[in-house]
Amino acid sequence: MLFITTIAGIRARRAELATTGTRLAFVPTMGALHEGHLALVRRGQELADEVWASVFVNPTQFAPGEDFERYPRNLEGDRVLLEQAGVTLLFAPSTKELYPRPSTTVIDLPELTAGLCGVQRPGHFQGVALVVAKLLNIVEPHVAVFGAKDWQQAMVIRRMVEDLCLPVRVEVHPTQREDDGLARSSRNAYLARDERRAASVLHRALEGAVAAIRAGERRGPALEAEVAAEVSGEPMTRLQYVAAVDPDTLAPLAALKDRVLLVAAVHVGATRLIDNVLTEVC
Ligand code: AMP
Repeated sequence: MLFITTIAGIRARRAELATTGTRLAFVPTMGALHEGHLALVRRGQELADEVWASVFVNPTQFAPGEDFERYPRNLEGDRVLLEQAGVTLLFAPSTKELYPRPSTTVIDLPELTAGLCGVQRPGHFQGVALVVAKLLNIVEPHVAVFGAKDWQQAMVIRRMVEDLCLPVRVEVHPTQREDDGLARSSRNAYLARDERRAASVLHRALEGAVAAIRAGERRGPALEAEVAAEVSGEPMTRLQYVAAVDPDTLAPLAALKDRVLLVAAVHVGATRLIDNVLTEVC
C-alpha cells in the first residue's frame, strides 16, 4: 500500500492510474478505523478495480469545544487495517497540506443542514462539505463510498456532488453494528463500560419504532415519542433529538408514506452518539 501525504503525490499517482483505465473507488475517513470503515472498503472493491482511502481529522467540521483535540488517532493501526483490507493507497495529509491558509469558500446546503445534527453542530456540515469537495477534487475517484450511519452527511455530499456537477458516483453503504445493535463508531472508544452497555438503547429504541410502523403506526410525532420514551428508560442516556423524516429531503414527516428515516442523537455521559434506521412504509 502506498502512503502519501501530499496533494502533489496523489495527483502524480492518479495521473499514472488514468493511463491504465483503472476504475477507482475512494473511502474518506477520520481514522481510528473499525469494521464500519472496512465495510466501505469492501463495497468499494465491488464497485471498482482499486480502492484508495484517506485518514484526515478535519478541523473545520469541529466547533470550538467539540472533541477535535481528543478525537481518537491511530494512524499506524489504520495503516495495517487498510493494507490488510487490500487498499492500495492511503492519503494522510497534514492540516497544513489541506488548509495552507483558512478557506474563504463556504459550501452551504441550508435545506439539508438546518435540522437534525445541524441544529446542535452549526457549521459542521459546511466543514464536511468543504473537506469532501477538496478530497474528491484531489483524488478524482469514479466512486466515493460513505456510510449510512451518518445519513445527513451522506445526503449533503450526494446533493453537493449533484449541484456542483462533480464527476463521481456517491455510494451509501449500510451501517455496521456491534452484536447488541450499537452502530460502530470511532467515538464508541470514549464509552466507559456501563456507558457502553447503556448506549445500546439508541438502536433498540429506533427498532421499536420500526416495529410500531409494521404494526400500523403512521404518525411521525407518535414514533418520535416512542423513541424518546424508550431512551428515557435508560438513565445514563439523554436524548438530544429524534425525528421521523423524508430520507432524501430530511423534511419532518407528520404522516408517513413510502419511506421514512428515523434518526436520533443521544448523549451517553459526555459522548454524543447518532444512529438512524431507514424503513419502507407499506
Ligand atoms: P468517520 O471516520 O467517522 O468520519 O467515518 C468515515 C466514513 O465511514 C463515513 O462515510 C461514515 O459514515 C462511515 N462509517 C462510520 N461508521 C460506520 C458504520 N458503523 N457503518 C458504516 N459506515 C460507517
